[in-house]
Amino acid sequence: MNLILLGPPGAGKGTQAKRLEEKFKIIQLSTGDMLRAAIASGSDVGLKAKSIIDSGGLVSDDIMVQMISERVDQDDCKNGFILDGFPRTVAQAEALDVMLAEKGLKIDHVIELKVDESILFDRIRTRIAETPEAERRSDDTEETLRTRLQVFKEQTAPIIPYYADRGALKSVDGMASITEVSGQIDAIVAA
Ligand code: ADP
Repeated sequence: MNLILLGPPGAGKGTQAKRLEEKFKIIQLSTGDMLRAAIASGSDVGLKAKSIIDSGGLVSDDIMVQMISERVDQDDCKNGFILDGFPRTVAQAEALDVMLAEKGLKIDHVIELKVDESILFDRIRTRIAETPEAERRSDDTEETLRTRLQVFKEQTAPIIPYYADRGALKSVDGMASITEVSGQIDAIVAA
């Protein structure tokens, strides 16, 4: 089973992806985590990505599509994967369709976590406060969050109608408790 989780920064994609990983023995592919690992390793991609991420912008579609394409080919994705943070632009969504078709794969469910913008600031503020400074993400600041939300609205939100038009989109109430959101997601994947 292959899934896409959609939603703004702080919507809870990572939390739900981790749970789905356990429950269905499929792999979470978080492009944010993959980019942070690339930065930590000092690779070319990491070097290019660091300043873009810290400013709240988006890494180029080409790099991201390539990164995901190589990752889904690996053995541990055989059972399925959860895309978290990808696609983030309509161009990435289009490239994903082509790439998966070439590999003979498809997405089974596109799940949108709907959350009001007003609570996202509170959630990220809490995440910042609860994370020891040494472990804090360099893009988890209020200023960067403002940019990330703006970028989400301008570049990522248009992929919601992209999937809705294809009849692939299911929405859940991301404001509900973690357990309730999990329940709503389980009902979608069981259907
Ligand atoms: P969040 O969901 O909290 O916004 P992520 O951990 O998913 O954060 O991503 C952090 C940053 O990594 C993004 O702000 C962006 O700069 C970069 N990034 C992650 N995924 C993509 C992608 N698919 N395309 C372009 N940039 C990406």
